[in-house]
Amino acid sequence: MKPILPGAMLGLLGGGQLGRMFTMVAHQMGYQVTVLDPDTDSPAGRVADQFICADYADKDALAQLSSQCSAITTEFENIAASALSTLAEQCIVRPDAHSVTIAQNRILEKRFLQSHGLTVAPFEVIEQAGCPDTIDDIFPGILKVSQFGYDGKGQRHVDNAAGLAAAFNDLGSVPCVLEQKLPLKCEVSVVLARSYDGSIVYFPVVENQHANGILDVSIVSARVSAGVAANARDMAGKIAQALAYQGVLCVEFFVLDDDRLVVNEIAPRPHNSGHFSIDACVTSQFEQQVRALCGMPLGDTVLHQSCVMVNLLGDIWQSAEPDWYQLLSEPSVKLHLYGKTEARPGRKMGHFTVLDATTEKALERALHLKQQLELSGHAAMQSSGTGY
Ligand code: ADP
Ligand code: MG
Repeated sequence: MKPILPGAMLGLLGGGQLGRMFTMVAHQMGYQVTVLDPDTDSPAGRVADQFICADYADKDALAQLSSQCSAITTEFENIAASALSTLAEQCIVRPDAHSVTIAQNRILEKRFLQSHGLTVAPFEVIEQAGCPDTIDDIFPGILKVSQFGYDGKGQRHVDNAAGLAAAFNDLGSVPCVLEQKLPLKCEVSVVLARSYDGSIVYFPVVENQHANGILDVSIVSARVSAGVAANARDMAGKIAQALAYQGVLCVEFFVLDDDRLVVNEIAPRPHNSGHFSIDACVTSQFEQQVRALCGMPLGDTVLHQSCVMVNLLGDIWQSAEPDWYQLLSEPSVKLHLYGKTEARPGRKMGHFTVLDATTEKALERALHLKQQLELSGHAAMQSSGTGY
């Protein structure tokens, strides 16, 4: 395959922060980017060379995108497979419609994983109000909408059949999976990039801590044994292979008490848990996305230093602007803000990464800085200014 060289126009479906970080690295490498997103003021749309403001199913907009781009990717999995297939008739689309279709639907995803011998949490598909007989073994469980859930949205904890019926109704009576709630030792993820020629490069395994179903802190490298890390990489590689995947893929895992790994879900794109790679690796997950999309060789994923990434949610803006001056007084902190104007609770507004000689030191400093930043809103409210 002929590589797509710098100077070419790349297309991106979705204008969120993942798209913004893709666009920024594509620019660094000399590519141009056209973003398609229905929101008039999206983080990626603002930095793109061209912005098409349209629905993802808008045929004219898709035709415009494919006519002006050499290759198209997505930062968002909820794109209709038909849109990706239509685009693929005109130009290169990576990842392909098949991979995105599986990753965007929990039912297809779990069946696909099982069919390749990978362990998932015990589950039942729930498509209507009545309960299958086999369901009692699953409680306590988590009912999850099959499509369009993210950051813990579209999920309800349920303890029995009555709770399930109420939760199913509450979630809009759409197809769901009921998953057994597993006792987790920790959670890890693997971000990898797979090239058109089948070669795969892996980022270091990441340990993820969530708060209210939303990623809170990512610790690199994960504090798991070398055996668990190798298993996670092998399983992620197997999934990429089975999908004949092209692009950046993330696989989230649950680690059980006996160190067994259960696949939670897959994301057909760069992932929040891979943001550390921007500041701590030779090649970031977004640069790999550009390289894989363009059929260029993949980059080295080696880690410069241990690090911890902390997500910045809209909650910390509630009383005042957080004290960025204080945060950046730590020279090894790297701040990323996504340019979102409205700071709603639970909304991902940015992140910061702390690098240090060891994982423990990076974690200790990251948690301290996180707490300081959360408190800074209150302090700023009480004093007349932040002093800069
Ligand atoms: P999302 O698409 O919102 O990321 P996930 O299915 O990954 O949804 O769930 C979000 C988080 O909720 C997980 O990272 C984990 O912390 C917790 N969780 C989800 N499913 C289970 C489960 N079956 N057992 C225990 N915890 C779970
Ligand atoms: Mg998840």
